[in-house]
Amino acid sequence: VIDTVEDKAEDLQSRPPIITIMGHVDHGKTSLLDAIRKANVVSGEAGGITQHIGAYQVTTDSGAVLSFLDTPGHAAFTSMRARGANVTDIVVLVVAADDAVMPQTVEAINHAKAAGVPMIVAINKVDKPEADPDKVRSALLHHEVIVEKLSGDVQDVEVSAKTGLGLDELLEAIALQAEILELKANPDRSAQGAVIEAQLDIGRGPVATVLVQHGTLRRGDIFVVGEQWGKVRALINDKGERVEEAGPSVPVEVLGLNGTPEAGDVLNVVETEAQAREIAEFRNQQAKDKRAAAGAA
Ligand code: GDP
Repeated sequence: VIDTVEDKAEDLQSRPPIITIMGHVDHGKTSLLDAIRKANVVSGEAGGITQHIGAYQVTTDSGAVLSFLDTPGHAAFTSMRARGANVTDIVVLVVAADDAVMPQTVEAINHAKAAGVPMIVAINKVDKPEADPDKVRSALLHHEVIVEKLSGDVQDVEVSAKTGLGLDELLEAIALQAEILELKANPDRSAQGAVIEAQLDIGRGPVATVLVQHGTLRRGDIFVVGEQWGKVRALINDKGERVEEAGPSVPVEVLGLNGTPEAGDVLNVVETEAQAREIAEFRNQQAKDKRAAAGAA
């Protein structure tokens, strides 16, 4: 029932990259995500700043569209990967220029390498007097991350999330990396996406933020997502606006679920409510059986 057909090359169109920011605690992941989002908010659109749906899109000066996962940290990355939702195309590794390569820096490098996801190094906090970007570059050498400034192939950009220095350069570095990756998806098929956040909203019922990976998700579509199913009642974009549809690499809030799914669950559009219900119930039973078996063991 679920459309797993391989797309034909002629049906593929380029899609924005999906970026996760990783790095050691306090090196500036959250600050960087905030700074990038704010720098990209067009005046008059200020209300959009407060909207948090777990991911957002920005447009670079050169016109490239980038989708950022707004959930810094490794837990999100690894749990989604463990659950089969390989959503990240590019990892931005943040290293504070006034600190060193720390345990979670190494962890991030290992995650990116294990996932086969290219990295871009953002050397942050260069506004600080004690910042020493070259020290960071040579420290990364010990972890087989050789940046461009040291004649390697990993792009490195000096930034300050505080002053905004280097942010445009970082975005263009990401756009360049994305171009090399030639990311593509078929927008003209039934949608598939990954849940990046979900919660039960008192006013709106279960709400899931979904990053569309294939196809186009539309209002009225019937879907299964993990053990839940639903019919898209409304789609809300990262600016808080209602939209009719969301194509590949676009994050949207989905309303109209019968229950709350989990981060990492995969959403698939199906043809009928009967199918959706049947698949969801089957998965529910499977999960119950699994729990019972685990309990009996
Ligand atoms: P995270 O734990 O990696 O998400 O780090 P945060 O974004 O929370 O930043 C940790 C601390 O570093 C906060 O106090 C930030 O204000 C500060 N910080 C982040 N980026 C910069 C920067 O570019 N320059 C300076 N001076 N401080 C920064």
